[in-house]
Amino acid sequence: MTDTRRNLPSIERLLTDPDIAALLDRAPREEVVQAAREAVAAARSSRDLEDRNWASEVADRLAARGRSSLRPVINATGVVLHTNLGRAPLADAALRAMHEIGRGYSTLEYDLDAGIRGHRSDHVRELASRLTGAEDALVVNNAAAALVLALAALGGSGGVAISRGELIEIGGSFRIPDILRATGARLTEIGTTNRTHLDDYAKALDAGASCVLVVHRSNFVQSGYVHAPSPTDVAKLARQRSVPCIHDLGSGLLLELEGSPLADEPTLGEAVAAGADIVIASGDKLLGGPQAGIMVGRRDAVAACRSHPLARAVRSDKFTLAALEATLRLYQEPDRARREIPVLAMLTATPAAVAARAQRLVVQLPAEFDPRTEDGTSAVGGGAAPAVNLPTTLVTLAPGPLGVQGLLLRLRLGEPAIVARAEGDRVALDPRTMTEEDLVPTARAIINVGVDPAAEADELS
Ligand SMILES: *Cc1c(COP(=O)(O)O)cnc(C)c1O
Repeated sequence: MTDTRRNLPSIERLLTDPDIAALLDRAPREEVVQAAREAVAAARSSRDLEDRNWASEVADRLAARGRSSLRPVINATGVVLHTNLGRAPLADAALRAMHEIGRGYSTLEYDLDAGIRGHRSDHVRELASRLTGAEDALVVNNAAAALVLALAALGGSGGVAISRGELIEIGGSFRIPDILRATGARLTEIGTTNRTHLDDYAKALDAGASCVLVVHRSNFVQSGYVHAPSPTDVAKLARQRSVPCIHDLGSGLLLELEGSPLADEPTLGEAVAAGADIVIASGDKLLGGPQAGIMVGRRDAVAACRSHPLARAVRSDKFTLAALEATLRLYQEPDRARREIPVLAMLTATPAAVAARAQRLVVQLPAEFDPRTEDGTSAVGGGAAPAVNLPTTLVTLAPGPLGVQGLLLRLRLGEPAIVARAEGDRVALDPRTMTEEDLVPTARAIINVGVDPAAEADELS
């Protein structure tokens, strides 16, 4: 070992290799030197030093260094709203709007008619209100920010009444009780984990609670001996007592998806009709738009949020507003929305359409992976509709000597990167979350993995 390590080339020597020197024409010297250092460091920790192709290794590492850290992947997991993979892919109309607005100046905070300053949220105000039946709308950075803003503006000092069944964790670092406390609001827990009654809200208000918060159980289901009053009854009670009611809906479905497994998911319009002062939803969940916190509701409550000092700290940027306006415009024609908003298209894709896509992929794959189509299920994801399973057709692969985890890793590290999932002792790709344009690059990446599985396995170990 010691002897072979002594044989590692110096960086200077590597740079005299004509193939490596040629890289200097393509990339800054410092990048080539770093790539060469990485190649030597990798060789130092490797057992096998024979026949190293230094030029190709340095070139590979240089290419990897040149790739963006934030880059596209093919989502073959079948989880439509995959938070770690960026949640909702945007509609073409939304992408065009972002490009238009990003490349130059815009009316972001400018009223062309009057030639005076406008408000950035005005661009979606009328549209969001109309589509949800609300009096007014405000858009902020995300739903978590919307909740913070609503609690700060409307929470008051008497305590925020919330059912123990709704003190939920949304994901990683977002727990409703922690958010509540962080805004300085006092938490007034009412009811029990499984059963809360309207009377529990009434008692909390009798005891001085200054706000009511209703949180949609978006990422889990309760069944059995459970009860919660309807959002309509809670909102009515709050109104009678002149106390604001905030309803965190989370997923922000805008269309009824009749006939789909999501038919029972509450829509934003239904939540607004239930009468809360503010309804909060994410822009990048079932709505299928950019990351945003949509706040819709009564005029005075939205105005209080808009003029609160925190509104400035959680405001949306122009790309978001451009993409959101374009996405909302598609909803003016529901059939067009279902077709052109990728999240809605994926969620409502028929079993036959997914099976046909699976077929178009499987025929392109090399026999060494024993590619097959199999029945499976896709998930909505993004903390929405947790009980809904969408029947799908998977394309599965036998991983061979790489093993399931080894093949998954090779797919992630390939170009393009593919995130697939394990199904027993096979690797599964779900075409529901892949576009038609993903199929050829996916097949090519799998073919590249298969070039020499034994050698690849050795490299991974
Ligand atoms: C997802 C979710 C949130 C957080 O939404 P972000 O837009 O990710 O901040 C808040 N409340 C509920 C009920 C949710 O489902």
